[in-house]
Amino acid sequence: MLEPVKNVASVEEVATRFKLNLPDSVSGFVGGKQLAQDSSVAPIQHLCPATEELLYGVNECSPADVDAAVAAARDAFDNTGWARMAHKERKQLLRRLIDVIDANKEELAAIQSLEVGMPLAGVNAMHIPRTIENFEFFIEAAGTLGGHTYTQTGQYTSIVTREAVGVVALLSPWNAPLVLSSMKLAAALALGNTCVIKASEYSPYSLFRFVEIMHEADLPPGLINLVNGRGHVTGKALTEHPGVDVIGFVGGTETGKAIMQSAAGGIKKVGLELGGKSANIVLSSANLPSAIDGSLLAILSGNGEQCLAGSRILVEDEVADEFIESFVARMKNVVVGDPFDADSEIGPLAFAAHRDKVLAYAKIAEAEGAEILCGGRAADSFAKGYFVEPTAALVTSNQSRVCQEEIFGPFVTIQRIRDADEAVQIANESSFGLVSYIWSDDLPSVMSVAQRVKAGTVWVNTPLTRDLRAPFGGYKMSGVGRDGLHASVDLLTEEKTMMLPNAPLKLPSLGSKR
Ligand code: NAD
Repeated sequence: MLEPVKNVASVEEVATRFKLNLPDSVSGFVGGKQLAQDSSVAPIQHLCPATEELLYGVNECSPADVDAAVAAARDAFDNTGWARMAHKERKQLLRRLIDVIDANKEELAAIQSLEVGMPLAGVNAMHIPRTIENFEFFIEAAGTLGGHTYTQTGQYTSIVTREAVGVVALLSPWNAPLVLSSMKLAAALALGNTCVIKASEYSPYSLFRFVEIMHEADLPPGLINLVNGRGHVTGKALTEHPGVDVIGFVGGTETGKAIMQSAAGGIKKVGLELGGKSANIVLSSANLPSAIDGSLLAILSGNGEQCLAGSRILVEDEVADEFIESFVARMKNVVVGDPFDADSEIGPLAFAAHRDKVLAYAKIAEAEGAEILCGGRAADSFAKGYFVEPTAALVTSNQSRVCQEEIFGPFVTIQRIRDADEAVQIANESSFGLVSYIWSDDLPSVMSVAQRVKAGTVWVNTPLTRDLRAPFGGYKMSGVGRDGLHASVDLLTEEKTMMLPNAPLKLPSLGSKR
């Protein structure tokens, strides 16, 4: 019997409930002002993932708009004193950003859920607090940094200092616009840079509204600019722009390659946080209930649309039957629903083409001989929207496409393994290396696996925790560089060495021999 059609809040109902003043179209923000709409360019339509209603159009920023944004950031860098401001003063100004984010957090969370489809409860519990923490952390951390000196030459003292790089281009993906952009924005500003943010064309309004409310904090205009539009138009114009000094990119691996090429023309510094296909290793020494809870969170948090998803479960034979039975039963029980319903555990995927891509992988898995244990199809109890059932596929070869390609949705593969050595070997048979998860209560096994897995972060008996002091980023095709205190400082500042003699020097007098 078919389930009744589930109720999903309309855009109007959400807008009324959260007092959202949704625009007809979203553009950019340059030098403290919203960019005017170019009436000759048709806006790109963005539909609500839960209802397929038109949310708004995106006015694509042209290369001329990008020029204006970079010029505004350059002017703010050169002429407002921001880069050389005393930390105490800069801190006071930046703390106002925290106040305006805090004052508008319900609205920001609702916008992100509405345009991306992520359950509001998760955005409120994780994304908003992290967005605020990003600013709190980098504002304080910037005040603790210092340089160093070398005195070993005897005759000279070398003083090494760091200074802001200049204009930073920050490009974000659609899945978590507030958290991901604020991480790099907070670090860039706290270290004295000015910025041009490029929002994703699939989540344009979260960042537009974020930047708009930041201007309520009365920071110098031009400090934070925003451009919207497609990657190969607006993004390319920004990353190739000669006025940009450094690029902080978060997005897919293929785009990361294009960004590196764009950066090459101007020998720009680049930080790349790219895709993942992370191994989630469950050893027989694991506390199984907690491994099951953690594995579900690792693949389903944020609708599974996360770079750090634990999307390849490798479970030791001895406990595989028990793990698979419980894990799949729980996957089948996951509440797929309206992002604005507090009971929903996952919402719709962000846009139709992405939903189609995720579902296509179920067909690919079957064609490759995998067994679909649950899901693999659209969730059919909704009249509209890009809802899919959480999917688990039992695979026998890590070489299959579903084990090698990033699916970026609520889709996990499960593979039985002989032992920890095989887990390490399979975990590393991947072009990615962002994170990995290990579930085991046996310390020597944990250490031995953790040290051999090629991933930037290894989570042991826990999913998804983060310390902003620690570096985060990927091995191999998961990225270049890291985020985190020292890693961000490396990307967003230049080191300068100043050499001074310790006493007046007697230099050879060239040209005085005759
Ligand atoms: P994407 O690479 O398609 O787009 C990211 C951004 O780059 C967007 O703003 C897009 O408009 C822009 N862009 C696209 N082509 C461009 C080009 N040629 N030049 C300049 N800019 C261009 O990624 P997405 O689909 O928005 O996001 C999903 C991807 O992001 C996944 O692969 C995911 O793993 C990755 N991601 C990584 C992290 C991390 O920290 N490592 C975090 C979140 C998401």
